[in-house]
Amino acid sequence: MEEAGYIPRAPFPGRSMPWDSTCATCHEHRRPTLQQVETGTRCHHHGRRRYGPRP
Ligand SMILES: [Zn+2]
Repeated sequence: MEEAGYIPRAPFPGRSMPWDSTCATCHEHRRPTLQQVETGTRCHHHGRRRYGPRP
């Protein structure tokens, strides 16, 4: 999980269950599943709204 940029905040819930974590880059709360992480899904850091529709 750390390798994927997530800091786990709860005990491992199971491969297909959302895992409460914090993104190590943008520090947003994320709930990826281990399956998503294993297939390459990563946080898009939308919390900073750098890519929002308005400037
Ligand atoms: Zn992030």
